[in-house]
Amino acid sequence: MKKHNFSAGPCILPQEVMQKASEAVLDFDGLGLSLIEISHRSKEFVAVMEEARALSLELLGLNGKGYQALFLQGGASLEFLMVAYNLLESKSGYVNTGTWSSKAIKEARLLGEVVEVASSKDKNFNYIPRGYGIPDNLDYLHLTSNNTIFGTQIKEFPKTNFPLICDMSSDIFSRQLDFSQFDLIYAGAQKNMGPAGTTLVVVKEDILGKVSRSIPSMLDYKVHIAKDSMFNTPSVFAVYTSMLTLKWLKELGGIAAIEETNEKKAKLIYSEIDLNPLFNGFAREEDRSAMNATFTLAEEGLKDTFDSMWKEAGINGLNGHRSVGGYRASMYNALSLESVGVLVDIMSELERKA
Ligand SMILES: *Cc1c(COP(=O)(O)O)cnc(C)c1O
Repeated sequence: MKKHNFSAGPCILPQEVMQKASEAVLDFDGLGLSLIEISHRSKEFVAVMEEARALSLELLGLNGKGYQALFLQGGASLEFLMVAYNLLESKSGYVNTGTWSSKAIKEARLLGEVVEVASSKDKNFNYIPRGYGIPDNLDYLHLTSNNTIFGTQIKEFPKTNFPLICDMSSDIFSRQLDFSQFDLIYAGAQKNMGPAGTTLVVVKEDILGKVSRSIPSMLDYKVHIAKDSMFNTPSVFAVYTSMLTLKWLKELGGIAAIEETNEKKAKLIYSEIDLNPLFNGFAREEDRSAMNATFTLAEEGLKDTFDSMWKEAGINGLNGHRSVGGYRASMYNALSLESVGVLVDIMSELERKA
């Protein structure tokens, strides 16, 4: 039986996407060949790449607005470096909201000055900083929209008169936003879009080409744009599976439709966390993530009982990250409301038992 998969990443994908992806590995579109053994330059795969790029822009509402979508490799972690390579001339700004922001800052420092304009490190990143000043002479400001490990999410984004860059690895395509407020968005596929191995980069073309350094080809967004995201062999399986997920999302009604379900899932788990005296939420209430709910047990002595209860109920991937401890329920797009219901039932059953 399929488990209720709360894994933080790589994560759950729609079952029908898994089905189609596995069929394509055996025989892609009746070609008598596998998806992973045909040329990436074949017209069949070029069509897959083009559809994945077009669906990304369409779902984000960025068609015809000067943006390009790329499917690159190296994960979100390589984007930490690529963003700085392509955009950092003298001084950049970063809001430090967790482990991933800190890693992005570390890479950018290799290439230029980084101002940490705000940080929530003082409280182990359990909140999103507000009301901070932003210098007006930055090359760009970098944010992390959803902090996968700590379970916080930015609800309102600062306005700037320079490029706004956002790591959306763990909440892209999960909620409606005015995506045109961002000049570059990146997301490793394995949180909400596909298997590991590809990274979506959506970039406004007119912010590129302004730094004086020479950029290695593989790290140059302009090179990837000029080659239609096929500068070198792309990860064909990851791009294809991501495309299937984007198609699934479009058929469901797009981001507006999935957001409704995501809100229901978040409401269900957070109301249980708040009402059940055995659990404490980790993130500050107004900054809670709809994707990753972090919580701890009020009495450590109940750990073994709770752990065996959720495991017996067919739940997977609930253990929290070591830097927070406790539990983390990741509720990405493909996780159903029913699965969250199963978890919440176990939590209230623990209260009855204890
Ligand atoms: C997982 C994650 C990353 C790292 O992604 P990789 O693809 O493994 O490099 C970066 N940022 C956020 C917000 C993440 O959740």
